[in-house]
Amino acid sequence: MSESPAASSLASPERPSVAVDVACVGFGPAAAGFLETISRGLANPDGTPRIQSRAMPGMPLQVLCYERSDDVGFGVSGVVTRARGIRASFPDLDPATIPTACRVEHEEVAYLLDPIGASRRGLLLRTKDAFLRTFARILGVRDHAFRLPWLPPFLRKDGGLTFSLGAFQQWNAARLMGTGLVQIWPGSPVREPLFEGDRVVGIRLADQGVEKDGKPAAGFSPGMDVRADLVVVADGPVGPVGDALNRRFGMPPGHHRREWAIGMKAVAELPESSSLKPGTVLHTLGFPEPDAFGFLYALSNRTVSFGIFLPSTFALPVRATYRYLQHWMAHPYIRRHLEGATLRSWGAKTLYESGRLGEPLLVDEGWARIGEGSGSTNVLTNSGVDEAWTTGVLLAEGVLEIAAAGKPYTRENLEAAYVRRRRTHPMDRESRIATHARDGFRIGFIPGVVGTGLAGMTRGLLRVPARSRPAHAFIRPLEEAYRGRIPAEEIEKMRREAAAAGGSIHDALMDRAGWPRPALDGKLFVSHQDALLLGGKVQAPAGFADHVVFVDRATCEACTIKSCVEACSAQAITLAPEGGVPVFDREKCIHCGGCIWNCAHPRPGDPERSNVDFRAGAGGLHSAEN
Ligand SMILES: Cc1cc2nc3c(=O)[nH]c(=O)nc-3n(C[C@H](O)[C@H](O)[C@H](O)COP(=O)(O)OP(=O)(O)OC[C@H]3O[C@@H](n4cnc5c(N)ncnc54)[C@H](O)[C@@H]3O)c2cc1C
Ligand code: SF4
Ligand code: SF4
Repeated sequence: MSESPAASSLASPERPSVAVDVACVGFGPAAAGFLETISRGLANPDGTPRIQSRAMPGMPLQVLCYERSDDVGFGVSGVVTRARGIRASFPDLDPATIPTACRVEHEEVAYLLDPIGASRRGLLLRTKDAFLRTFARILGVRDHAFRLPWLPPFLRKDGGLTFSLGAFQQWNAARLMGTGLVQIWPGSPVREPLFEGDRVVGIRLADQGVEKDGKPAAGFSPGMDVRADLVVVADGPVGPVGDALNRRFGMPPGHHRREWAIGMKAVAELPESSSLKPGTVLHTLGFPEPDAFGFLYALSNRTVSFGIFLPSTFALPVRATYRYLQHWMAHPYIRRHLEGATLRSWGAKTLYESGRLGEPLLVDEGWARIGEGSGSTNVLTNSGVDEAWTTGVLLAEGVLEIAAAGKPYTRENLEAAYVRRRRTHPMDRESRIATHARDGFRIGFIPGVVGTGLAGMTRGLLRVPARSRPAHAFIRPLEEAYRGRIPAEEIEKMRREAAAAGGSIHDALMDRAGWPRPALDGKLFVSHQDALLLGGKVQAPAGFADHVVFVDRATCEACTIKSCVEACSAQAITLAPEGGVPVFDREKCIHCGGCIWNCAHPRPGDPERSNVDFRAGAGGLHSAEN
């Protein structure tokens, strides 16, 4: 295996360096579960160290966590969760202590009919829709929505909680920092793991004072090297440290990172007259396109959190999530609940949907992986937070065991102390049941729904089998996707006009496909640009390199699909007026990670990876509400 570029310059004299015992990358719920559990085992009741630090003799184990975004809780998302792992950590938890949190009181799943007639629906679905409309009165179809009369047990979140994940993370961080036993450093993007041979010996933070391409500029300040006995990789679905480990060590046989979804969500304040009860949880399918899923959670403080998911198996190359979100909000079934509401914040984030099939190597020499990047998300129950938290708890228990025994963090010791705990935990059994639950979506919406139902009702015994393909294989040329609806010459004309304006083509395509432009009211329905400024803002501190990189420029130049532009959550990637490689604007990027898997082509020599590299970067969306 080739030596990492980082290893060769490890002793660079001007690069600052620090030694700790445990360095953690990213502060999501996985890291919070890890830090919460480990902090309880570091000191005796009298404050003396229970486990001695090797990095700072006489002190307790030194545990530091580096978070990319400018403050904790930025750039994550609102959730509903059974919260079994979280409650196990806090048996006396009073939800009222966590801002926005409340108990789940009512759950509903609704199939949304298309009141506009613009979505792509095959014959089978149109027949089903016609049946629902014909027998609307008998079947209780109201507001163009059919509510499932019964919720399958695997979807239910009985006794669970709904809250803003950002608020939950801030609650965790405040308590953890208050212990004085662990440290959390926001605004500290980690560029890469440091290797000595195949052992990870620490992490390197991103350089500052550099040009867009990473070359030193005025005020160059090399990122610090953090030497650590153990690196805990908790950088989520699209983290560059987890990705570097995958590139170096590969995936276990039969495993892959092929399935994703973009989740775009918003938070709105409800009017006093709203009848939406806190703890109401709604899930939808069927609209704006059949394979777009929606959610709405009423939180405790007269706010509501809602959004949609577009998966990598989405049938269209135009994945304009913001526009689709607005069509979903305007659907009569949703609109009714949002009447009089005012948008407060908005954001987007990638969800890793390969679940168990996406589980990478969990440990090796000097490192261990937790959270969504470790394949913990349950793709049957659509649950990621509690699973991520639990993996952090299990690793912390293992680390305390290893450290107390004075053993090194070798693969063998980490497997015995952490992987074994994970394999015997009920969460692991549930993730096996979920393994193939979503496979049917690779064929289409109906096989997907049937497959999920089958897997859920038979505990994974039955499913709809379908071959997996890399995410880019699902992105078809525009002309093919709109064949019979929009002539190829017209698409070419739209393409030229969009490029000349330095924008994107999706609005023109959707207008032409019959989607009426959402009417903006400046309150709930605001322009995409205005949404970027709501409830905080998008900020890109100066002096960092571009974190979105088009790897092979010739591939981009030859690409006519340009799905990276259409799918970008924040208009940060636009068509170049002169054609060719798109333009990336770091100032606008919200770090959703969607461009990685919404690229239409593999990079040369690597059919599994797209032509977009997503590296460590600072800034992004400033809203802990999302
Ligand atoms: C819109 C949306 C809605 C969702 N709804 C639900 C739900 O209702 N219920 C549910 O259970 N789950 C839900 N999920 C999934 C859930 O949010 C994730 O499974 C969970 O957050 C994963 O936790 P994590 O700690 O592994 O990773 P993350 O939450 O992704 O945290 C990773 C952290 O690492 C940081 N990071 C990344 N790279 C670096 C770097 N180079 N250096 C330093 N820090 C870095 C990131 O900024 C981030 O803070 C939803 C996801 C989305 C996108
Ligand atoms: S990043 Fe991918 S989708 Fe975008 S232009 Fe390049 S090859 Fe095409
Ligand atoms: S450029 Fe930024 S905002 Fe756009 S898709 Fe990529 S990560 Fe998301």
